[in-house]
Amino acid sequence: MSSDYQQVLDTIHRDVQPLLRQGKVASYIPQLSTVSPDHFGMAVFCLDGRTYTVGDADVKFSLQSITKLFAFALAFAREGDDVWKRVGREPSGNPFNSLVQLEYERGIPRNPFINAGALVITDILATRYVQAEIAVQQFARLLANEPAIDFDHTVAESERSTADRNTAMAHFMKDFGNFHNPVDIVIDAYCRQCSLTMTCAELAKAGSFLAQHGTIPWSGTQILDPSSSKRLNALMLTCGTYDAAGDFAYRVGLPAKSGVGGGILALMPGEASIAVWSPGLDEAGNSLAGTYALERFTTLTARSIF
Ligand code: GLN
Repeated sequence: MSSDYQQVLDTIHRDVQPLLRQGKVASYIPQLSTVSPDHFGMAVFCLDGRTYTVGDADVKFSLQSITKLFAFALAFAREGDDVWKRVGREPSGNPFNSLVQLEYERGIPRNPFINAGALVITDILATRYVQAEIAVQQFARLLANEPAIDFDHTVAESERSTADRNTAMAHFMKDFGNFHNPVDIVIDAYCRQCSLTMTCAELAKAGSFLAQHGTIPWSGTQILDPSSSKRLNALMLTCGTYDAAGDFAYRVGLPAKSGVGGGILALMPGEASIAVWSPGLDEAGNSLAGTYALERFTTLTARSIF
């Protein structure tokens, strides 16, 4: 049972135009700053297979932290509750790249969606797989049913050359015994993983298993059991948009994961997954127009998880 969302998307596309230049395109990864702030794309993938798109929904963009969702889902599927020995599940209330909590919480990051937590997850994957980033890529290909999902090597190298803060975090966690592989190997894998690109249409499809109790809707492949999928949705709601998660839940009311490339993946459990992309970011590092678009979506459709 799904609605016709095309009209809603067309309305949103019109309404976001004045916002596109109000956000700030990420520049701490130099290559990301070359992307035009004028882009806006949105895709809704309904669990019955219908897809609605608008704007630049077929343009590839840098997933960045959205890959933390795929990396975590893969680690959670393989390791189960053991992941919680290495990372917490509380919102951090701090910027995604903050180091401060790591010291007094003894090298255990607050959650898998801030950089420190994602680095631990990549470390877990690096223990299990020969190349963690290839495991995440293969997983993303499976989820999107799209064999061409690939890295953007220019973005990966750009991030690698400015990765001092993430490298510092990894060394710090190693000192506390919460990092098992060589830091350089994990940072390399993490920068490549973050450089994966997708279109909104691909991303909405890739996230749809989390709207359907952990099972890929079109193939019936179970990725996570329903309970784990429900928990991952909760984690997205509370931690998926960094220290703006409270405001995002208030405005949008859907579990979501954002990235500094300007993408956001949001879930309507039991009904659809939604991907939006607009590169201009707000102060917390979430897409400014993308957040507004999702807010409009849940307002216009009178749907949210609440
Ligand atoms: N690769 C980015 C980083 O580690 C991801 C950050 C993000 O998207 N919030 O800084």
